[in-house]
Amino acid sequence: MTSTAIPTFTPGPRLLPVMPADQQAELDPYMAQIVGYRKSGLSLNHIIGCPLECGYCVRHFWGNFEVKVPHLLMPTEEAIDRLVGHEAFRPGVTPIQLFNKATDPFLPGVKPHLFQVLQALDASGFTNHVLLITRFKVTEADMAALERLQHLRVTLLFTYSGITDPRVEPISKSEITVTSIRTAAAHKRRTGVVLYWRPIVPGWNDAPDTMARVLDVGRDADAIVFTGYYHKPENADYLRGLGVPVPFGEDYHRRKTMPADLDAAVVAAWRTSGISTPLFRKTSCGVAYAHEVPDYNGHWGVRELCDICPAAQQQRCADDHTPPTPASMDRILGQLGYQTQYVIEDGHVWTHGLGEQRRYAIQHGLRYQIWELDQPHHLHAHGRSLNGHRADAAQVEVFTAVRQQFEQEARYEDD
Ligand code: SF4
Repeated sequence: MTSTAIPTFTPGPRLLPVMPADQQAELDPYMAQIVGYRKSGLSLNHIIGCPLECGYCVRHFWGNFEVKVPHLLMPTEEAIDRLVGHEAFRPGVTPIQLFNKATDPFLPGVKPHLFQVLQALDASGFTNHVLLITRFKVTEADMAALERLQHLRVTLLFTYSGITDPRVEPISKSEITVTSIRTAAAHKRRTGVVLYWRPIVPGWNDAPDTMARVLDVGRDADAIVFTGYYHKPENADYLRGLGVPVPFGEDYHRRKTMPADLDAAVVAAWRTSGISTPLFRKTSCGVAYAHEVPDYNGHWGVRELCDICPAAQQQRCADDHTPPTPASMDRILGQLGYQTQYVIEDGHVWTHGLGEQRRYAIQHGLRYQIWELDQPHHLHAHGRSLNGHRADAAQVEVFTAVRQQFEQEARYEDD
């Protein structure tokens, strides 16, 4: 692609092709994973590929950005079985995300599969949260179908950044997303509607008038959630190749970038906007608020996140915040079949060696932050177990440093 080419998009076919087995065998393992546990929930992704051409797309990282046509990796019935058969799935508890990794659930070819999954889960009487992230066309008929669900607690998260450069977001000129947000907000009753304000990037969409416009679009949503963007070489190279100025230089990070001054500017813009829609830093907080329940990730344990949250919601989270006891930790570990040493502290529990996916399963089960103390050398230097340890000065220092690191990461970790 030359530096003057402006990407355009088509919505893709109505009938999706199945990806041949030999191509599936070549996929990056992350792209090939059909059910995976993420911070916002257990995530089903048996369709991958997207035509929308967002320049910063995370699919750059796993070699999937060039796949513009959504492909099925397996039949939808089988995928549903795999989701509810996952070791960590719990009816009524486990938040679920559908097609949030490598496609858009409302593309014409993906939508029938989306509703097939929703209707099957709802028919089973599951009351779980279901998160649907989209920037595509959501019609009145789609809203009517969502509203007919009786059990699932569905939230639509509309990715809308206010970016107007078509090299970064070809869809932005179409007004498709803004129209969808207005349609959803006008027809929601039991469906949550969140304006997902991301990515916010200095120079792209942080000007005061741009922020004011995004906030105005969110006027009738239940909540607005804001986050930064993944600054990695793969998407930065692509965007720079199109001639787009990309900030942050070569300072690449594993997590999303949201500098403190940008966070402050967003909060200030929201305060001066005059809208009454609450603003959140965390996806699960916005989703929980939309359904009037406490945050399922237990962010109340990282209180600095909560300063902008409505008082009634803070009260819900405070009332719900129950530190696990050793008995309740042992019980949930036993139920999930996981093993770890742990230390229960105020606002979080340290665990060791579980890996992200298992930690999130426990976190959602307890609605309490579950952290990883990846310091086996220090922990075991004195032959103590994690549980009930008596810390010496050196170990206290280590804990303090790792705790600070985790507080930081809890702010920026991926949703
Ligand atoms: S009180 Fe804190 S944890 Fe609860 S929803 Fe609000 S911001 Fe999130």
